[in-house]
Amino acid sequence: MALGLPSVLPGSQPSIGELIRDGAPTFSFEFFPPKTPAGDRLLWQAIRELEPLRPSFVSITYGAGGTTRDTTVDVTERIATETTLLPMAHLTAVNHSVAELRNVIGRLAGAGVRNVLAVRGDPPGDPTGEWIAHPHGVRYAEDLVRLIRTAGDFSVGVAAFPYKHPRSPDIASDTEYFIRKCRAGADFAITQMVFDAEDYLRLRDRVAAAGGDTPILPGVMPVTKLATIERSEQLSGAPFPSALAAQFARVADDEAAVRQLGIEQANQLCTRLLDEGVPGIHFITMNRSTATREVWLNVGTRV
Ligand code: FAD
Repeated sequence: MALGLPSVLPGSQPSIGELIRDGAPTFSFEFFPPKTPAGDRLLWQAIRELEPLRPSFVSITYGAGGTTRDTTVDVTERIATETTLLPMAHLTAVNHSVAELRNVIGRLAGAGVRNVLAVRGDPPGDPTGEWIAHPHGVRYAEDLVRLIRTAGDFSVGVAAFPYKHPRSPDIASDTEYFIRKCRAGADFAITQMVFDAEDYLRLRDRVAAAGGDTPILPGVMPVTKLATIERSEQLSGAPFPSALAAQFARVADDEAAVRQLGIEQANQLCTRLLDEGVPGIHFITMNRSTATREVWLNVGTRV
């Protein structure tokens, strides 16, 4: 056993990498760790309402700057033990020494969690600020992938950026480093949220052209409020597609129409992506169940 960590027993939980490679497109839901008791109730309501849809897996993000480390591990563990869902924990390198990262990985392994999304994370406070590695930590997601892979029988995912990562100087280096972290041991990747299938397809093509063959799941978030669009731009650093923004602007005064347009747009996007043979779709739920369920009920029957 590497690194003195509890090794994950083979077969304790399915490997998401294998699920994605093996069969029909996967459907997965992303949640974030709550910070308040009310947020906790909302999260568990969403989890319980989405559980009957039998998603392939669910993922729990890791708070910026490692702020929700314990909550992420606790929620992941609770999902593993109290629900029928297959959980994946996100893990970031921000503000963590290698020893602390090993400790988190060990806790996940101890809870039987076999799937981890390895992302570098952004600096706390200003996500666009200078990224300073912990003096005893790791610098890139690539290093985190290696750390997790050497710690046990984990299936590891990484992040992908259709519009390139905001810190990447150009598309070519973005593609090169993406492929490097995949080759370090990632089984699959998930993109930042996409609103136009063409953006996902361009990423898939440029990775394939550079020799990458890691399956890439598109991240989809149904727009239910105009604020979501603004938030998505802040989170992804990518502009919301202007043609789509114009459609939303036309119904901006009508909340119900905005929501309906958001669901229709997500339906069309998922249909196109599935037609293009995507290996799965990863829904960003914002800890709410209804919009994701509506879209899933429309497109989930196709698989
Ligand atoms: P990296 O792959 O390390 O890349 C960062 C930058 O460095 C890129 O520009 C890359 O091209 C460059 N680079 C990589 N390797 C090298 C190298 N060897 N030499 C030079 N340059 C290099 N954040 C959170 O805080 N918590 C989460 O739970 C979370 N989940 C996410 C889930 C998904 C699906 C996505 C898409 C993002 C998520 N993020 C999360 C955000 C993510 O942490 C940030 O976008 C972060 O800035 C980049 O992470 P990365 O893993 O892609 O970094």
